[in-house]
Amino acid sequence: MKVPLLDLKRQYQEIKDECLRVTEAIYDSQQFILGPYVEALERDINDYCETEFAVGVSSGSDALLIALMAADIKAGDRVLTTPYTFFATAGSIRRLGAIPVFVDIEPDTYNMDPAFLEAVLGKMGAEAKKTLKAVIPVHLYGQCAEMDPILEISGAHRLMVVEDAAQAIGSVYKGRRAGAIGDMGCFSFFPTKNLGGFGDGGMVTTNSTDFYEKLKILRVHGGAPKYYHQMIGGNFRLDALQAAIVSIKLGYLDQWTRGRQENAKKYRALFSASGLEQMISLPVEKQDRHIYNQFVIRVPEKRDALRSWLNDCGIGNEIYYPVPLHLQTCFADLGYAAGDFPVSEKAAAETLALPIFAELKDEEIEYVVDRIKVFYS
Ligand SMILES: *Cc1c(COP(=O)(O)O)cnc(C)c1O
Repeated sequence: MKVPLLDLKRQYQEIKDECLRVTEAIYDSQQFILGPYVEALERDINDYCETEFAVGVSSGSDALLIALMAADIKAGDRVLTTPYTFFATAGSIRRLGAIPVFVDIEPDTYNMDPAFLEAVLGKMGAEAKKTLKAVIPVHLYGQCAEMDPILEISGAHRLMVVEDAAQAIGSVYKGRRAGAIGDMGCFSFFPTKNLGGFGDGGMVTTNSTDFYEKLKILRVHGGAPKYYHQMIGGNFRLDALQAAIVSIKLGYLDQWTRGRQENAKKYRALFSASGLEQMISLPVEKQDRHIYNQFVIRVPEKRDALRSWLNDCGIGNEIYYPVPLHLQTCFADLGYAAGDFPVSEKAAAETLALPIFAELKDEEIEYVVDRIKVFYS
């Protein structure tokens, strides 16, 4: 049996007719950039995320970049985030010439640890503190970071909070939806996310009129009105085709999320019956609604050998992420070294993502757990 990490073709079968219809309508209109489909998606995402405003953009990475631009992050400013995330989180900071300041994570959720946030702030010199502007908590794998203490600490230091919610659309923290908790929320419609387009796309959500107005202007090169520039923006536009596809998929998102959550339950039942709990640990659900963009187990010993075994068995898997960002070559100038963020480094050495997509069949989940059992026997 072969079990892919993600098989989008199964999902596509369910929505194919709708997608083809809307695609044809857009082809007939020959209106591809922004426009009514993007506006409709912005309204839908607002409703879904329980925010005031949403601005469709070209990708999740650009959502982060434009949010930081709207927050006026400039060269030499400092922005706190975790080293255990997709590259774009810190990449967006650096692309503006700003300095990522890393904060280690919690070992069970892999999200920013508020205690480490306090510790990093406590150790920071007065000069550096003056340049500190924002925090980007990441809701990794589909579960919200511990936002209340992060908001409290950020408030005390007058820092903006930009949520990296790229993996967490619809996840909930104490009754609030991802993207509606901080000053701005950044989403990705990359095809492998829970809500993915047929290409790149993203969204920024906010409850602030000021940020909303600024985001819309920055999205079109900073021209307001067109050809009159008080700011330098970029081409961060979302296109009609992506918006229309994402709108269709949004109608299925809760159903698909339930499918992922049920698959997680099945894994839990099978793993606990398998006696593997000494060898591996399962994802921890700490917040209200984990949407399982990834189902990531922790394998303290022989992770890489297990990985090759799963590959040999035809089971898709992935390491998110093998190199924490403070150890990336391109960030060497930030002056970090191995050992600086031990929780992240340990996670990078021990985590392994297993297939979790909604259309996964019971026998596929059983096969995955069974093959892991065989590996350890
Ligand atoms: C996917 C992702 C991004 C970037 O989104 P793209 O749409 O691929 O540019 C940013 N942050 C995190 C945590 C992500 O998972």
